[in-house]
Amino acid sequence: MIDFELPQELVELRERVTEFIKTKVVPLENDPRQHPHIEESLRQELVALGREAGLLSPHAPKEYGGLGLDHRGIAVVFEAASYSPLGHLALNIQAPDEGNVNLLMRVASPEQKARLLPPLVRGELRTVFSMTETATDGAGADPSLLQTVAQQDKDGYLITGRKYMISGVTGAGINIVMARTLDVHGQDLGASMFFVDMDAPGFSCDRELHTLDSNTPGGHWEVSFDKVRVTPDQVLGEVGRGFAQAQIRLAPARLTHCMRWLGQAVRCHEIAVEHARKRHSFGKTLGEHQGVGFMLADNEIELHMCRLSIWHCAWLLDQHEQARNETSMAKVFCSEALGRVVDRCMQILGSIGITSDTVVERVYRDIRCFRIYDGPSEVHRHALARRLMSPRR
Ligand SMILES: Cc1cc2nc3c(=O)[nH]c(=O)nc-3n(C[C@H](O)[C@H](O)[C@H](O)COP(=O)(O)OP(=O)(O)OC[C@H]3O[C@@H](n4cnc5c(N)ncnc54)[C@H](O)[C@@H]3O)c2cc1C
Repeated sequence: MIDFELPQELVELRERVTEFIKTKVVPLENDPRQHPHIEESLRQELVALGREAGLLSPHAPKEYGGLGLDHRGIAVVFEAASYSPLGHLALNIQAPDEGNVNLLMRVASPEQKARLLPPLVRGELRTVFSMTETATDGAGADPSLLQTVAQQDKDGYLITGRKYMISGVTGAGINIVMARTLDVHGQDLGASMFFVDMDAPGFSCDRELHTLDSNTPGGHWEVSFDKVRVTPDQVLGEVGRGFAQAQIRLAPARLTHCMRWLGQAVRCHEIAVEHARKRHSFGKTLGEHQGVGFMLADNEIELHMCRLSIWHCAWLLDQHEQARNETSMAKVFCSEALGRVVDRCMQILGSIGITSDTVVERVYRDIRCFRIYDGPSEVHRHALARRLMSPRR
């Protein structure tokens, strides 16, 4: 039986997070260090506040310094933290680091865990995940097109290739790179993951991309690898198991994106409700006009349905189920429904909506990307439809 009742300590933690975000984080929302993306100095300031409040890294195991929450706890806390677009940084739960903690926990060697997890969990180290390739060729929605190669030799591997739209590059300490692996005879062993140092010879940050969103410390980059040397101890997990390992990372990572965007959409909805109560038009408040009232009602319905689908997937993950199909459906539903919620909020706010006088404008820009990363909506639908058509279903 699914149990959505929250333990008292989780309710109290949610209250602490809510209070922390409203009093410490919201006041920093207009800090100038956010263009074109959030600067590292602001991120560190936010992490220091989260640490002081004892709220850092709720997703990470206690043995590494986190709060050790299960998926249900994560769902509750991530939503509360994301009431502010800066909240995920203050709690150190931003992508890709949050997903990378999970990946490392599942597949890294004991030495790699001991070296990388403590600074990651303390918010001192940021990581990058490099999968997508050039805008017109190579791995994208279809990872099987992977072109970056790791050629094995007697000392390890030499990585060569280009990656596109790689988030968080400036200021990061470690790059997790997916590459097709060839043995010394040129035989394809499949995709593998490698740790590449950001200052490794042959690695270059070629171009920072100008993007619609602005919420990623370190920005989004096009980077390249020219025979970058990695040693065998820089392999993450098993050689040839890169795609399978990416799947381990993906299901919970998709869901935490849903949680973060839910929190931000809730905030936008609150702003729109407040505005609709106060602003008058044609002899009554905006909210008294059915056209506006129905938009707000649709927001309530979609926020509620998103929360339910997130909690259901979290519950499945807590039962140690992979929940790949369910998180895939939740990702499509939440990215589209929450996008509609924020769009309605902007419409209700009128001209204020498109200014930076409220966070709605920023969330509107940032949330658009959610329908593309971690699998575009169409690709999730494609996979679902393929399963439906399978004779073995
Ligand atoms: C803000 C942001 C941050 C990102 N950060 C990272 C990162 O840190 N690391 C990383 O590796 N990648 C990152 N990405 C890249 C992201 O993973 C890719 O954008 C995504 O996998 C899609 O690949 P693509 O952009 O190459 O689109 P393409 O593969 O070129 O697809 C383009 C469009 O074609 C359509 N399409 C594709 N396949 C199908 C199909 N089977 N059926 C129907 N329609 C289809 C979809 O509408 C899709 O949006 C990021 C992307 C964004 C937007």
